[in-house]
Amino acid sequence: TTFESLGLSPEILKAIEDLGFESPSEVQEQTIPILLEEPTDMVALAQTGTGKTAAFGFPLIQNIDLNSKKTQGLILSPTRELCMQITNELKQYAKYYQNLNTVAVYGGASITDQARQIKRGAQIIVATPGRMKDMIQRNIIDISNINICILDEADEMLNMGFFEDIKEILSHSSDQKNTWLFSATMPKEVSMIAKKFMKSPKEITV
Ligand code: AMP
Repeated sequence: TTFESLGLSPEILKAIEDLGFESPSEVQEQTIPILLEEPTDMVALAQTGTGKTAAFGFPLIQNIDLNSKKTQGLILSPTRELCMQITNELKQYAKYYQNLNTVAVYGGASITDQARQIKRGAQIIVATPGRMKDMIQRNIIDISNINICILDEADEMLNMGFFEDIKEILSHSSDQKNTWLFSATMPKEVSMIAKKFMKSPKEITV
């Protein structure tokens, strides 16, 4: 399989070439065509290091309406490190899109700086749950227009006790959005989250 056959945009294909990725990883091969084809919820069982960031990142980027500065996509991730890492990757993937802004929002750093970046327009926000909840409650971030929410390392987020924060965050988003859940393991708690927040998700295991 080639990246060209997955339905990716010329801008993303060019970025992939710059990164030197030769062919899609298994999780990318399985998720990308489905996520690009039609709006859907998805549960993907995939470990770190399998290329899952691009598996959700490419379709997310391709779904953004660049004529709008509204926040359209949200990625929740368990740690500040992961949050920064995902943001860096997305910026590389989207480098040929002029008007796409991705902003990282996490605890332990200045909320004022993050708020300033959000104000400039962030179509994609990559966040840890605690800081995200805080910024929604302070009316700094509005996620009522997001079309896509990605729960990355869902098992880790639940282990870290973020269930209530996630529930609170998602209550500020529309029921029309799609949710893509990625997790390395599928304990009861993760299946419960999938049941609670998703509508007949497509299931992928790598
Ligand atoms: P992840 O599982 O998303 O943390 O990705 C692990 C690493 O693999 C990251 O450094 C990616 O940049 C890289 N990567 C992702 N997809 C591919 C691919 N198809 N070919 C080569 N490297 C990749």
